[in-house]
Amino acid sequence: MDDCIFCMIARGEIPTHAVYEDDRIFAFKDLHPQAPVHVLLVPKVHYTGLNSDVPEELLGALLAAAPRVAALMGVADSGYRVIINTGPDAGQTVPHLHVHLIGGAPMSEGMVKLA
Ligand code: AMP
Ligand code: ZN
Repeated sequence: MDDCIFCMIARGEIPTHAVYEDDRIFAFKDLHPQAPVHVLLVPKVHYTGLNSDVPEELLGALLAAAPRVAALMGVADSGYRVIINTGPDAGQTVPHLHVHLIGGAPMSEGMVKLA
């Protein structure tokens, strides 16, 4: 999508701190990190969110990239959390499917939302 910020980031049109890329997935540091490690993983193709009939293969690729990103960021063993906010009640602010990968510090059991 032309005016989608994460599409623009995935196309390299907006400066970002990239941490991982493959043929379908792009991962970059969150602009406002909620933890020492806070990376966003996005499919390069635009889908608004989990409700957008995302192909299962792409969802699999998105999740499969998470442990690779965790390893690159040095949190594979210490642990990390993956979150996909979907829709207004979840606090989704960017309408391009994305996975938050957060880690680098202990998280409380109850922390299910980044806001
Ligand atoms: P969500 O609330 O799940 O939609 O998360 C959107 C996330 O995108 C927030 O954590 C923002 O800090 C992050 N974000 C927004 N714009 C950018 C950007 N240009 N580069 C990196 N992260 C961004
Ligand atoms: Zn997009």
